[in-house]
Amino acid sequence: MTSKQVKPLAGAVRTASGAVRPVPGARITGGLLHHWQRRNSTATIPHTIEQLRAAGNVANLSRLLEQDPAPYRGRYPFLDTDLYKTLEGLAYELGDGDAPEPVREFYEEVVGLLERVQAEDGYLNSFFQDPAATRKPWQDLAWGHELYNLGHLIQAAVAAGRRMGDDRLLRVAGRFADLVVERFAETGVCGHPEVEMALVELYRETGERAYLDLAGAFVDRRGAGQLKHSIFPGDYFQDHVPFRELPSVTGHAVRMAYLAAGAADVFLETGDRSLFEALERLWDDMVAAKLYVTGGLGSRHSDEAIGDRYELPSERAYSETCAAIAVMQWAWRMFLATGGAKYLDVFERVLYNAYAVGLSADGKAFFYDNPLQRRPDHEQRSGAEDGGEPLRRAWFGCPCCPPNIVRWMAQLADYLAAERDGALLVASYASARIESAGLDLAMETAYPWDGDVRLTVERAADGPYALVLRIPGWARGATVTVNGEPHAGDPEDGWLTVERRWSAGDEIRLALPMPVRAHGSHPSLDATRGAVAVARGPLVYCVEQQDSPAAAVDDLLVGVPEIVNANIERRDGTVVLGVTACAAPPPSAELYPELPLEQALPETTVTATFVPYFLWGNRGPEAMRVWVRTPMTTGKKAT
Ligand SMILES: [Zn+2]
Repeated sequence: MTSKQVKPLAGAVRTASGAVRPVPGARITGGLLHHWQRRNSTATIPHTIEQLRAAGNVANLSRLLEQDPAPYRGRYPFLDTDLYKTLEGLAYELGDGDAPEPVREFYEEVVGLLERVQAEDGYLNSFFQDPAATRKPWQDLAWGHELYNLGHLIQAAVAAGRRMGDDRLLRVAGRFADLVVERFAETGVCGHPEVEMALVELYRETGERAYLDLAGAFVDRRGAGQLKHSIFPGDYFQDHVPFRELPSVTGHAVRMAYLAAGAADVFLETGDRSLFEALERLWDDMVAAKLYVTGGLGSRHSDEAIGDRYELPSERAYSETCAAIAVMQWAWRMFLATGGAKYLDVFERVLYNAYAVGLSADGKAFFYDNPLQRRPDHEQRSGAEDGGEPLRRAWFGCPCCPPNIVRWMAQLADYLAAERDGALLVASYASARIESAGLDLAMETAYPWDGDVRLTVERAADGPYALVLRIPGWARGATVTVNGEPHAGDPEDGWLTVERRWSAGDEIRLALPMPVRAHGSHPSLDATRGAVAVARGPLVYCVEQQDSPAAAVDDLLVGVPEIVNANIERRDGTVVLGVTACAAPPPSAELYPELPLEQALPETTVTATFVPYFLWGNRGPEAMRVWVRTPMTTGKKAT
């Protein structure tokens, strides 16, 4: 069979300028990610639509068509973005053709409203278009979020154009973008980055260079101290130092990671090396000193900020779900730019941990911040804004995270594979069908629960072609067979390449060993010193009080050998780990006891069951820990 007519580049990031390109088509067909996508369709999306209607996000638009508009509902000027993010997710659902009628109705209603509410000059924002608004458009660039709004509108529009062939939103977004190109030709920048990524994508979609130039200008205009706010300092907005000179990721976590992802997009299309050097430096520093073991970013509730190097407290982790999505967006662009597998290791760590934990098992409740520990006497904040609910909540007054989860779930297939001339790269593993220029594959696997992957060639181009398989950083001793024959060759920089002439029916089997791992932390990371985290494959585990009946989770003392030799059990479609631990209550109730010369280890052992971190908090509010005490620092060997 010869090369088939390949569909145009697809995916959310449609660049042909990097080291690798997105593949034209991938679809998730089974396993955990498929379960997540089904849950998104059947539970999270209907729930989100209901909440958006109830909270007034739709009414904020429709009221503007009335003679005497009702007041804007909600506290924030960016509530249109929650509609946009939902529309972006719906474009994937509707493009696949299997969304129920109420979903299509919602999409049609909101698209119709946006077309009608948009001002004559292209401006669109239901907060500032309010005749009663005290602030006028563009008066408050630091807090107005108007370009952040435009960014999400563009992303929804591009998704609708690509997935559904519906250009209505693209026309709306294009008119607004053209207004912004004119208004911001010389000066000005938005307090909340996001539009940079979107403008570059609009450039990719339309070929209109002005969008790319403006995105580049928005990256480079930061650092001049233009964004003034009565509460937040300049670093909150990444406006205290020029982007290229930032010593480290800093300030508001979501802003920082969206900005970096947008800068990576600008680099992809311009090849501006000094921008890339800054991005690589910032990325490496973030991974070395500012990411939680779950991949979460943001250590401070105050200003939703990233914090200092090694400032990573577990129980006070902010680790906002939106920041997790932003880090994945940044990671994917760095991967497209370089072909580097290290970015995908982080992408996957975030996906299965810091991102996935943000949603309840039933798909209808959300964390906004994602701590790594819950203390037994944890006091839930209460009040109208916080809902006073014990764990995940149905919605928020600032509901940025739920619709962000929706759109990201819907587009997960865009991040499974990539290609370059003569090669298909499998970036992550899931039961899926992947179509590329040279190879169409069916992939079957129970990943991330186990590391066996079977790939069947369904169509192959003539001539030799490389299948390049990502070997995650945690996987040691991965093996590959082709049609039952062992493939010789070691992974290089996280990739294992099998190059040959392929035929339909060829079968490749990849085995990624998945032993249980014990992770410590850098000595400077005070918050988790003397503690250990349990992981298997891409999943970080935690212990919840429900699974440790014989000892308080805070009293568990777990040695590395016991973790590595954990009992691996399948339970309810997941994998849980049974770990032998000591029950070691504090020797004294004193907060700061004087230390004895030696401290003996308790002899009573208990079994602690570790569950995937992303599943915690689905069985009621009890204590939870990712980091568990370990006897490593007692100076005595574990018995
Ligand atoms: Zn959020």
